[in-house]
Amino acid sequence: MKKTVAFSKDATNIFFHILTNCNLKCRHCYINPEQHGEKPLPPETLEAWLEVFAKKSKEANVIFLGGEPTMHPALSLAVKKAKVLGYNSITIDTNGYLFNDILSKVTPDDVDYFSFSLDGATRQTNDMIRGKGCYDKCIAGIRKAITRGFQVRD
Ligand code: SF4
Repeated sequence: MKKTVAFSKDATNIFFHILTNCNLKCRHCYINPEQHGEKPLPPETLEAWLEVFAKKSKEANVIFLGGEPTMHPALSLAVKKAKVLGYNSITIDTNGYLFNDILSKVTPDDVDYFSFSLDGATRQTNDMIRGKGCYDKCIAGIRKAITRGFQVRD
């Protein structure tokens, strides 16, 4: 079983919001571009922060978030940097749309888990919260990731 983010008192988890852009408008979304910024973090800033966090703890888990992190064109670069720096585990949270052909730019050796966001066990429940068509798109994304050999969570 691959390593994953741990929610225990001794765990160090870095929830790294790399941009606020998103293709969806979920009802519960707390991202506020006016407050949190509108520009994706530049690649050099991503790398610099990953280095800073890695120095703080060798046992840190990093979770890439957004917005929708796969919309960031430098996500794969950030993942590979995190891998080189030796993070305990690397997770990408996604709404399932998997932009920028991310599954072709990283490997199951780079990413411990893709964490897919669903807000209901049925199409009806999920799409009421996340928007029409999101359930099918997310399920398709999960299947595609599994086909490529990635570990997934929902
Ligand atoms: S997918 Fe995530 S970031 Fe995008 S609107 Fe929904 S909750 Fe917000």
